[in-house]
Amino acid sequence: MMKPIVLLSILLLATAITAQPSKTNVVAFVNVNVIPMDRERVLRNQTVIVRDGTIAVIGDSKRNKPPAGAQVVDGTGKFLIPGLMDMHVHLFSDDEFPDSLAEDEFKVMIAYGVTTIRLMIGTPEQLVLREKSAKGQILAPTIFAASPHLTGKKQPNGIVVTTEAEGRAAVAKSKQEGYDFIKVTTFLAPEVYEAIVDEARKQNIRVVGHADSRSVGLQRALKAAQQIEHLDSYLEALLPENAPVKGSVSDIYVYTPKNWESIDYLDEKKIPELARLTVSANPFVTPTLHLFKFTFGKGRTEESFKAQPDIRFYPQKTVDAWTRASKRYLSTAAPIEKREKYIRVRNEIVKAIYDAGGKIMAGSDTPEWLMLYGHTLHLELIDLRDAGLSNYATLEAATKNPAAFLGLLGQAGPIEKGKRGDLVLLDANPLDDIANTQRRAGVMIKGKYFAQAEMNRWLDEIAPRFQHALDGHK
Ligand SMILES: [Zn+2]
Repeated sequence: MMKPIVLLSILLLATAITAQPSKTNVVAFVNVNVIPMDRERVLRNQTVIVRDGTIAVIGDSKRNKPPAGAQVVDGTGKFLIPGLMDMHVHLFSDDEFPDSLAEDEFKVMIAYGVTTIRLMIGTPEQLVLREKSAKGQILAPTIFAASPHLTGKKQPNGIVVTTEAEGRAAVAKSKQEGYDFIKVTTFLAPEVYEAIVDEARKQNIRVVGHADSRSVGLQRALKAAQQIEHLDSYLEALLPENAPVKGSVSDIYVYTPKNWESIDYLDEKKIPELARLTVSANPFVTPTLHLFKFTFGKGRTEESFKAQPDIRFYPQKTVDAWTRASKRYLSTAAPIEKREKYIRVRNEIVKAIYDAGGKIMAGSDTPEWLMLYGHTLHLELIDLRDAGLSNYATLEAATKNPAAFLGLLGQAGPIEKGKRGDLVLLDANPLDDIANTQRRAGVMIKGKYFAQAEMNRWLDEIAPRFQHALDGHK
C-alpha cells in the first residue's frame, strides 16, 4: 500500500513535469578547452552540454557527441571560463536615469561576460529586478543587492544613522526588506558602527562596504569581520604614530590635499602584518584598484575621457559632470610622484593580502566616474594582475572567490556538472594573458547562449539610448 505522503509527492512530481515547457533547450560546446577554475588547469577538447540552464555533461569530445536538436557551438581553439562576477556595481537607473534603463544596463553587463553582480547601494527597485532576474522574467545577471547605505550624513540612497538605536533599526529594516548585505559607507560614529555590526550579527546578515578612516578605522572594521571595499583605511593604518600628518588618502580623503603629504611617511614594512590580520578577520577583499589608480592615481583629463571606448554610452551632461569633477580633483592633486607611490602601495597591499591567503574579489564600482560596467571589470582584472597576481589568481577574483563569498559555489563559479550555465567563451587563453577575457566569442547566461557579434549589436542599439536617457530632464 502506498503511504499518502508518497502518493502526494508523486502527484506533485507529475504536476511539476507537466508544468515544464515541453521543448528542452540544449546547447553543446564542442572541441572546447575548458578552464574550470577549480584549480589551475585546462581540459582540452571537451564537449560541454547545457540542458535547460544546467551544465549536464563535461567530457572528452571524442566520446561525447552533442544530442540531436542541440544548438552546437564550435569551440575549436577557444576557451570556456565561468561567467564573470562583478562584486561592486551600481546602476545609472538608481539615480536620475529612468528605471526603464535597467534592462539595458544588464544587457551591457552580459555583453561583456558578466553573469553575476553585487549591487552595492540598494534601492527598492533593485529588489524587484533581483526577483525578475531570478524568475527569468528579464535577461539579467544573477543579482545580489546590498542595503541602502548606512551613513552618518545625508547622501543619495542612504539611511542616515547617528545613534545606536537608529543603526540597529536600519539593520533590522534592511534585513526585513530582503537585502542581501548591510552596506556601510562614511561618517558613522564608532559606537553607531559597532551597534550596526552587533545587530547585523543578531539578524544574521553580513556587513560590507567602506571603513571610514576618520571614524571607524581599519582595526574596528577588522574586529567586526567586515568585508571591506576599496582598501579603505589601509593607507592610514600604515602611518607611524609619530608621522606629522594624521590622515591619509583612502576613500573620500583623496580629496583632502593635506592628506597626500602622508604618502611620504607610509611604512610599507607594516603591510605583511596588516595582510595577516585582514585574512584572519575576513579574507574577502574588493580593492577596486582600477577606479582609484585610474582616477586618483594617474588622473583623468578631458582628452582621456573623450578617448574612452565606452564614451558613446554617456549623456553629455554626465560626461561634463565627471570631467568637471576630475578637473577639480586634479587642480589640487598631489604631485605625480606621490600619486605613483599611492598606486604602488595599494598594489603592494593587494599582493600581500593575496600572499597571506586572502580572497581578492574583482569589483569595478561602475558606472561611477564614467566607467562602463562589464568593460571596466576587464580593466580591473588587468590591474589586479599588474599588482602581482598570476593570471589564474586574477581570474579567481572574478569567478571562484565571489562565488565562495556569495555562497554560490554549489550553483555557479567553477565549471562543474549540475551548475548553472553561466559561461564565457574566449578566443584565447586567459591563463596566458588575463587581457584575453576581452577576446570574447560569446556568453552563456542561465543556459542561453549569445554570440558576441549579436551582443555587439545590442551595444550599438543601447549606446544611443543611454546617451539620450536624460533628454527632457533638466
Ligand atoms: Zn561603489
